[in-house]
Amino acid sequence: MPTQKFHYIDDIFCCHEVPLETIAEQAGTPSYVYSGDAIRENYRAYDRALAGLEHDIHYAVKANSSLGILSLLAEEGAGFDIVSGGELYRVLKAGGDPSRVVFSGVGKTSEELRYALEQEIGRFNCESDGELRLLRELAAQIGRKPEVSLRVNPDIDAETHPYIATGLREHKFGIGLAEAERIYRQAAELHPLRLNGIGCHIGSQIFNIGAFAEALQRVLELAGRLRGFGVPIEALDLGGGLGVEYETGKQSPSIADYGRMLCAALAGANFRLGIEPGRSIVGQAGVLLTRVLYRKAGEGKVFAIVDAAMNDLIRPALYRAHHEVLPVRRSGRPVELTDVVGPVCESGDFLAKGRAMPRAEPGDLLAIATTGAYGFVLSSNYNSRPRAAEALVEGGSVRIVRRREIWEDLIRGEVVCVQA
Ligand SMILES: *Cc1c(COP(=O)(O)O)cnc(C)c1O
Repeated sequence: MPTQKFHYIDDIFCCHEVPLETIAEQAGTPSYVYSGDAIRENYRAYDRALAGLEHDIHYAVKANSSLGILSLLAEEGAGFDIVSGGELYRVLKAGGDPSRVVFSGVGKTSEELRYALEQEIGRFNCESDGELRLLRELAAQIGRKPEVSLRVNPDIDAETHPYIATGLREHKFGIGLAEAERIYRQAAELHPLRLNGIGCHIGSQIFNIGAFAEALQRVLELAGRLRGFGVPIEALDLGGGLGVEYETGKQSPSIADYGRMLCAALAGANFRLGIEPGRSIVGQAGVLLTRVLYRKAGEGKVFAIVDAAMNDLIRPALYRAHHEVLPVRRSGRPVELTDVVGPVCESGDFLAKGRAMPRAEPGDLLAIATTGAYGFVLSSNYNSRPRAAEALVEGGSVRIVRRREIWEDLIRGEVVCVQA
């Protein structure tokens, strides 16, 4: 089962002990449902796996930025990896500690950099010479001495979907190793920036722990050379990217094994290690709950038309991603090959294709599994569809952590133009 903390009890699909039918009554459909317990356990698994090292776990906010989830992770003691000013705003609203925030991303604006400097975040992961110069100027203006890492591009093939691979020379991310070395050796000129860290992030949905090991090796070589030149490198950041199981049987790499690799590679090296996991903390901890509107049997095709669509979950359309589809109430109905599709006016609007599943009838509830990461955050109002509600289950209690949007939300900030 690719989900965590979701299971059948007497043929009813439940989150912990709570039937998803009960959640559908409370929250309506479509709704994202998250297991708070699973999210906490995944975070703690990382913390345990790195217990042998001085470490910081910066949850990658872009995977799921709901305040409900951020606040739960802040309570666990997590730091946060952000990629925009808006994400920093969310982290602060959720009670996150700014000194435990790292700011990544290739295109930070001066407005965003200034806001992050004012909030005294923990570290900037800079990705270009231009960004360094701008940050230096702003830091000098407002009298701050931020800690800075360069995000280097270690030129590693992460063997993942091309849209989410980021660690090759041809990608827009990071700075090449040779160029980075040149910048570090002139670090003194970057005062008041404290350039004392090296970061990288080679991609997402990575199953091969060896790719991380190789990236770390290249970063360690650079750090060693720089220390030799007297550049005081203290912090290393290996980014995020550990994959999760979307298809039953394609077992995720274990967080414990990943931690063992890191502890072995860094034993005695005297660096503080940061990691930025997103998907592997929240991905398997969420499902998208949707109701069947119609069953339409075409020529040799059966469609289950549901009330969730590509605007709610774009991963199938964008990456041809696979998500398991589970009936919330198991039945003895005959199995048929079914396309699960939404109401949006595009043929790309599908959640699953050609799945052998018990005949879906109008009114049935379905759970689209492993949608806790890159689900709601990528949703839109396309076709003027209000965005879904989000429910967080902790123990036996369910909280709606985001109300479903209403039509007024759709037009907020807009004006009507009428000819005079
Ligand atoms: C997206 C991203 C992450 C998180 O990646 P996951 O695959 O969700 O773990 C971490 N760091 C950076 C810089 C990112 O862009």
